[in-house]
Amino acid sequence: MTHATDTVLNRDKPVTALSGVSAKRAQQLAKLQIETIGDLAGHFPRRYEDWTSLKPIGDLQDGEDGVFLAQVQKVPTLFRKGTRSTLQTVLRDPSGAIKGVWFNQPYLQDKLAVGDIFLFRGRVKREGRSFSVFNPAFEPQPQAVFPEVGESLAEAVADTFVRPVYPTTQGLGQNLLRGFVDRALAAVIPELDETLPGEIRRRYLLPDRVWAYTQIHNPDHLENYRLAKRRLAFDELLLLQLGLRLSKTAEMQRKAVPLRFTSQPKLLTELKKNITALPFPLTGDQKKALSDILKDMDKAVAMNRLLQGDVGSGKTIVAFLAMHACVLAGRQAVLMAPTGILAKQHEDSLRRLFPDIPAERIACLTGQQSAAQKRQVYERLKSGDIMYLIGTHAVLQKGVDFRALGLAVTDEQHRFGVKQRLRLIEEGDAHVLVMSATPIPRTLGLIVYGDLDVSVISEKPPGRKPIKTYTARTKDMPRLHAMIRRSAAHGNQTYVVCPMVNESDDSDLQSAVELYERLANTELTDLRVGLLHGQMKEKDKNEVMDRFLAGDIQVLVSTTVIEVGVDNPMATFMLVMNAERFGLAQLHQLRGRIGRGADESICVLQSDVGEGLARERLVTLCKSEDGFEIAEADLRLRGPGDFFGTRQHGLPTFRMANLYEDQELLSQSAEACSHILRDDPTLAQLEHAALREEAIRFLAQREA
Ligand code: ADP
Ligand code: MG
Repeated sequence: MTHATDTVLNRDKPVTALSGVSAKRAQQLAKLQIETIGDLAGHFPRRYEDWTSLKPIGDLQDGEDGVFLAQVQKVPTLFRKGTRSTLQTVLRDPSGAIKGVWFNQPYLQDKLAVGDIFLFRGRVKREGRSFSVFNPAFEPQPQAVFPEVGESLAEAVADTFVRPVYPTTQGLGQNLLRGFVDRALAAVIPELDETLPGEIRRRYLLPDRVWAYTQIHNPDHLENYRLAKRRLAFDELLLLQLGLRLSKTAEMQRKAVPLRFTSQPKLLTELKKNITALPFPLTGDQKKALSDILKDMDKAVAMNRLLQGDVGSGKTIVAFLAMHACVLAGRQAVLMAPTGILAKQHEDSLRRLFPDIPAERIACLTGQQSAAQKRQVYERLKSGDIMYLIGTHAVLQKGVDFRALGLAVTDEQHRFGVKQRLRLIEEGDAHVLVMSATPIPRTLGLIVYGDLDVSVISEKPPGRKPIKTYTARTKDMPRLHAMIRRSAAHGNQTYVVCPMVNESDDSDLQSAVELYERLANTELTDLRVGLLHGQMKEKDKNEVMDRFLAGDIQVLVSTTVIEVGVDNPMATFMLVMNAERFGLAQLHQLRGRIGRGADESICVLQSDVGEGLARERLVTLCKSEDGFEIAEADLRLRGPGDFFGTRQHGLPTFRMANLYEDQELLSQSAEACSHILRDDPTLAQLEHAALREEAIRFLAQREA
């Protein structure tokens, strides 16, 4: 069934279209990100109360959430003490009796009439030889008949159930919310089309969509919930991949102004001259990446390319050359970096590596500049006086208006939100290049970068010495101080990285401010120690960074603000405090700040955690310098917490799928995605109409 586009589907109607949902309720629902009836039907339970595993009272165990059928044996007695109260009665079945206790719910007294039979559910506690159940929920069972001892209890109750418990918000009770969801579901179910071809459902043993929606909310058994969840998780993974792949198809791609760079020998010669003038020859991978980019920019469809390469692989120069080519062809280029420090550094390197570019053609734009300074940049961008713009996300702000933008580059892509990336992409008819050092396991790459073409730099610039990585404990600090001194005596510099800026009472984590004071005033008084963290003013940060780059600061105590991009080849020693607090990918990224010069570099991971997973993770880093290997290990070793760091990777979040736990589902959905697109690359076949609609919808929702 397909729907005429002019009729509004129930799922798109506001929640207030549902009977019983007032404006006030709608406001509460909005706090849960629920706006439409469809959102309500897609508000999945957080957990379930199992009311199906009935037991005779005689079999209840201390500490369990017991479910039992019982008769009220005594008139409940109510004790009051000030505003507090306790209600007590005895509940009985043929196998035994248990004390029912309710705190501060005096109104329940009238509901528990002697002789009535209820299904109870609550935490059971043993007290001496007797058992009590505290604050049990209960449901009347007027039809119930107690079985003889030994007969099945389940049959005694007409209707056992698993009850969903939804994430909710202040003032919105479970029962009410449950009612809303049930009604939303009833409205949405008739218009839910099956999206998956039967063949895919059979191959991966997936239940149908209506069944999945029904069972995720009200499972007949807990086992059904698992099947339903698997189907819905599969859908999320598949829809995102399909959406991303669809957005790569020609009809969906943005138009761009072709630069016609490679067909103009004069421009090519000019660029070659610049390449020869660089202080180093390009590596093979850098040349290949540049050539991919130049070819893309010649086309009338916009380039949408990811330049991936481990930390220190030399992505920046490739981006500069692409920008330069774009400007040679007559259009402007912009580079966006995640921090002001990095933007500033990129500006400096561009000027240094391309001394022929007139100084006034290059400008830097960050959030810290005065309104007047910004206005001046805006005007000169508009007039084309500035051809190379480098900046933070300030370059995305209103007012930034190019005369003719040809290329937009984002550095350290994973640090930006999806939204920010899109703003840049929608900048009109510019080509887009994104760069990321974040090694992502291949399976996850499909999900994050499925819409991009990829160039990889795997070969590092020649002459790099490997970084030696060790772990150390607090007792090793004196030795570490000696190592820092020795390195300074050779004219080299040190980073000391702390997990937090200021000290907090509830933690013994090393703070940057406190450690800086200790090193500067007590332990390393003979060295010049500096401090850098994200809460400092942009101007102060830049000043510290300049002094560090100039060699004036020998030991830089900092937070992870130095994580991305910062490039000082004289820094050869890094000490990371409380290393267990960082994600592996993040530590690898941090470590990439050293090992950039000719001298041997050492990284020490300080951590007092004992054995186990946390230790094993750190050891992984000591053993490997390969970002991909580390990312795979991280995925394998990851504990229950999100060490890997969703933020670190710009990974999408799903409601049902879990990128770490659902690896098998992820590869199955990737396989299904390829399979479907092989026969029908644009999902034009009628059989795929619903799938196409949902994929585009899913992508649009994520990006909204
Ligand atoms: P990343 O890929 O992490 O952004 P950078 O672009 O900052 O790496 O490069 C790291 C360092 O390597 C810089 O100092 C850069 O000048 C240098 N570099 C880049 N390419 C080469 C090369 N082909 N040969 C030698 N050094 C290079
Ligand atoms: Mg970089």
